[in-house]
Amino acid sequence: MTPLLFNVNGSLLSLDNTKGDISFISHAHSDHVKKKVINKVIASKETLHISGIVGKKVSLKEVKLFDAGHVVGARQISISLDGQRVGYTGDMRLKRGIFDERAEIMDVDELYIDGTYADPAFRFKDPFEVYDDILKWVNSNNDKIIIFGAYPIGKTQELVKVFNEGGITPVLHAKNYEYTKKYIELGISLDAIKGGTEEASDAMRDGAVLIVPNNALTYKIKRGLSIVYGKEVLFAKATGWALKYRFNVDKAFPLSDHSDFYDIVDYIELSNAKKVHIMFTRNKAHVAKYFKEKGITVD
Ligand SMILES: [Zn+2]
Repeated sequence: MTPLLFNVNGSLLSLDNTKGDISFISHAHSDHVKKKVINKVIASKETLHISGIVGKKVSLKEVKLFDAGHVVGARQISISLDGQRVGYTGDMRLKRGIFDERAEIMDVDELYIDGTYADPAFRFKDPFEVYDDILKWVNSNNDKIIIFGAYPIGKTQELVKVFNEGGITPVLHAKNYEYTKKYIELGISLDAIKGGTEEASDAMRDGAVLIVPNNALTYKIKRGLSIVYGKEVLFAKATGWALKYRFNVDKAFPLSDHSDFYDIVDYIELSNAKKVHIMFTRNKAHVAKYFKEKGITVD
């Protein structure tokens, strides 16, 4: 993908890349943060804290930021360019999540939109219904060790909050714990036990919920923990892809911090954009087909 760069009053503004004079960083996920030191940056204080990016925070009168409802601190941007408004959503979720955030719909002429799930096969339930499903399943296996694979930023803290509200304090892998600590430093109330500690071992003897990076869901870990603690070990995942693909786990929950096809289409219609670019997917045909007769160009 060509890096997004806009000339705003003589300054080059880059969106989720650092090729310009000023960089907008939409959120802390590593695929959007290429560098940790940025000369001039536009981002939320949460994104800077979680990602560890350092740089001079600037603002431009032509630029407005909007909540993106993705990971905490995620923002969308709209830019005024000679009377035309261009919007870029970064990653976004239109449905409200457990941190009470959701994407605001920007009113723009041209829109760059998160199309991760731009396929009608994806229709996500309300996240709160999935949270209930997760807690029900966890509670029905409370004598076992349950291990969720999750991105250390975002999905981990969403799950921690779900478990906390269900009265469960999960045990976290060091990587997942590191970023959860950053959320806590931002004043977000989360309760978790750091893996590898005595407290973690005590919890696991009684059956516990663990959250680890996805690549730590290995047979070796499953077998090892089952021998050490004498408990059955179950693997789980919470990802939007679970609607279409099978994962090698005991249970997969279709929970996503992105929008599904139907929310993408609603967003585009409500944004009033006449020109739309679908981002972060090769699968643009479904949205393009939907808008073909409505005078909205989609690429
Ligand atoms: Zn993201």
